[in-house]
Amino acid sequence: MKVKDIINYTCYVETEQCILCEICEEICPNNSVFVERIHQGLVGDLVIDVTIDPIFCDACGDCIRICPTNAIKMRRREEWE
Ligand code: SF4
Ligand code: SF4
Repeated sequence: MKVKDIINYTCYVETEQCILCEICEEICPNNSVFVERIHQGLVGDLVIDVTIDPIFCDACGDCIRICPTNAIKMRRREEWE
């Protein structure tokens, strides 16, 4: 990853594809990934929330390569804002 890519790109997660394996959270060298299980309602419906902190993500791509369901994508930072 070149310096211009670190400046221009960051990651996001399509949570409907996430199986909560948490590998991305473990592998991220910058501790930028946060996997949460949120139980809502009387029957405790599971809501998945995986966030990537764009401040600390340096777009190394490790999480994208390791994700078993291809749930993590790279996008330009201006698309985030
Ligand atoms: S691209 Fe690299 S730094 Fe960014 S969230 Fe994924 S593993 Fe962490
Ligand atoms: S590696 Fe992929 S499937 Fe596993 S928790 Fe992260 S986003 Fe979800």
